[in-house]
Amino acid sequence: PHDTVDVVIVGSGGAGFSAAISATDNGAKVILIEKEPVIGGNAKLAAGGMNAAWTDQQKAKDIKDSPELMYKDTMKGGRDLNDPALVEILSSHSKASVDWMTGMGADLNDVGRMGGASVNRAHRPTGGAGVGAHLVQVLYDNAVKRNIDLRMNTRGIEVLKDDNGKVKGLLVKGMYKGYYWVKADAVVLATGGFAKNNERVSKLDPKLKGFISTNQPGAVGDGLDVAENAGGALKDMQYIQAHPTLSVKGGVMVTEAVRGNGAILVNREGKRFVNEITTRDKASAAILGQTGKSAFLIFDDSVRKSLSKIDKYIGLGVAPTADSLVKLGKMEGIDGKALTETVARYNTLVASGKDTDFERPNLPRALNEGNYYAIEVTPGVHHTMGGVMIDTKAEVMNAKKQVIPGLYGAGEVTGGVHGANRLGGNAISDIITFGRLAGEEAAKYSKKN
Ligand code: ADP
Repeated sequence: PHDTVDVVIVGSGGAGFSAAISATDNGAKVILIEKEPVIGGNAKLAAGGMNAAWTDQQKAKDIKDSPELMYKDTMKGGRDLNDPALVEILSSHSKASVDWMTGMGADLNDVGRMGGASVNRAHRPTGGAGVGAHLVQVLYDNAVKRNIDLRMNTRGIEVLKDDNGKVKGLLVKGMYKGYYWVKADAVVLATGGFAKNNERVSKLDPKLKGFISTNQPGAVGDGLDVAENAGGALKDMQYIQAHPTLSVKGGVMVTEAVRGNGAILVNREGKRFVNEITTRDKASAAILGQTGKSAFLIFDDSVRKSLSKIDKYIGLGVAPTADSLVKLGKMEGIDGKALTETVARYNTLVASGKDTDFERPNLPRALNEGNYYAIEVTPGVHHTMGGVMIDTKAEVMNAKKQVIPGLYGAGEVTGGVHGANRLGGNAISDIITFGRLAGEEAAKYSKKN
């Protein structure tokens, strides 16, 4: 072997960094490898929030929540196909995960609403800036503080096992060093999903053939092959999520928080057509059902001011603006008269506190301040719910549900936490909670072996 450590972690997204830090804090010597030239994976792109229940941040805002309610929302969003034991961990550990991140220096004080959540529980930095980029930065800084051996441009190729089927290390390929192996008692796979790999995606769900994706280039699923070759069983692979709001003009993902903070969705006819903060599967299907297979997020300056991320979209040129809805409609090919009526109607619903048209559960603000904005959106492949099967200690299991000794998995590479459909804000929660758990379990395991 080239190097000898206790735990090797594959993938430098939120799950991988969390695992590396918690393994280190539990006494393990680790190497963290990343095949791409940049850290952070898709985690860095996450913009919505980190779901957590009954946190100090929620209490400070008088938001009543509970792990039980988060559990219920998550199961319902996943069409009850989630692994209940994993969802139980996700919801009951969520507050501890927020505290763990804030303890390391993260700011998660803003709490917003995401689709499928009964209450505001999406935690993000003050002002609503991108949660993923912030958390990855905090994780990276903390990894540096711990002198964690991070190797970029290094791909995990194959899990190596001894004659008894126990993990003994990992074969890797460095861009400059070539192939070598790292001796380790435990390997944590935190390699993310495969939404960027349309060939793989469309084989599993032909409806998604040719769809663009919101993901980073490395999200092609080679980690799943590593898991399978090591004997890991895959589950729920057919469940692939389209994010409903990818900007048609710029190809950038527009966070669900724009709707959560008050934007409405209208079609070219100028009409609303869906509860804007329903789950992603339903919102995506509804948008594809409209003329031109796209729709428009409409909002005003009060929504813009509530979320700093929106200024980024404006800067990218994907959110045209006008001082009246008629003008905006003319610019974007939306029926301006109908749009004006729709917004007026929506504002009366906001005033009454109840959306009798589409049962939208939150009505944060009327749309009548300053300029109006329109972002044309269409669904893009966003998240792959399926992946390698794990138990409640993040141990990878084979098809007979037997543990592969020394092999762990966390984050989007795993299946089960999100069932058939992931709720916005649950990915960050998943990767921090299960990454941390996998790191701790892998460190404990290596001490015994
Ligand atoms: P999660 O959200 O589950 O943490 P991310 O997508 O954020 O997942 O991160 C996964 C990371 O793993 C990405 O940076 C990706 O480039 C990296 N990765 C994927 N496959 C491999 C591999 N075989 N070897 C090393 N790194 C990998």
